Amino acid sequence: MARVVVRPSDLNSFVYCPRRSYIDYYLGMHRTLIQRFKMLLGKFIHILYRLFRSGFIREELFKVDVYGLDVILVGRPDAYKIHDGYMVLEELKTGRSPKRYLHGVRVWLSDLIQVLAYAYMLSRMYNPGKIIVRVVYRDHNDTFQYNIAYENLLFCYLERYKRLVNGWVPPPLNHPGKCSKCRYKEICKDFSNLNVSEG
Ligand code: SF4
Repeated sequence: MARVVVRPSDLNSFVYCPRRSYIDYYLGMHRTLIQRFKMLLGKFIHILYRLFRSGFIREELFKVDVYGLDVILVGRPDAYKIHDGYMVLEELKTGRSPKRYLHGVRVWLSDLIQVLAYAYMLSRMYNPGKIIVRVVYRDHNDTFQYNIAYENLLFCYLERYKRLVNGWVPPPLNHPGKCSKCRYKEICKDFSNLNVSEG
């Protein structure tokens, strides 16, 4: 079976809404001007952030085979550094943090899975004693240690993402908060007659 190439940002999008990810993957719809402006603004904020993170290695491209899953992870962590045998990984998010804890952290699940993918890549590239992960939001920073439970969580989502690549059509979320501002809210309805299954 051909290996599936996955970018951590794809995983972020997939966890946010698998159906949106499906449409992105198979139809590759163009973004609106406002969406492109927001993306550019995000990139600009990342550039500013990196300028002030001296001592960190920034935006290095990694390509890592995921053991046993026929997946290749490809991506650039925002910033990381090696520190007396352990690593610090930082991921900047321009939005606000969630108010509740999930999996022991106050980080959106989609952001968590994305940063776990970066942590996995670093673990494979450097095999450090430990990896400390810091997710930086506008209103809150969360720091935690990458461990085997987080790795299992990441693998679980990689398995689900592979199902999408292999043709699984995710059902609609019917989430008013997400769907009302989704760029695919009209197209999404057109998929309603397709067979869908639980992921
Ligand atoms: S409208 Fe809702 S279910 Fe459909 S792609 Fe957008 S967020 Fe997902």
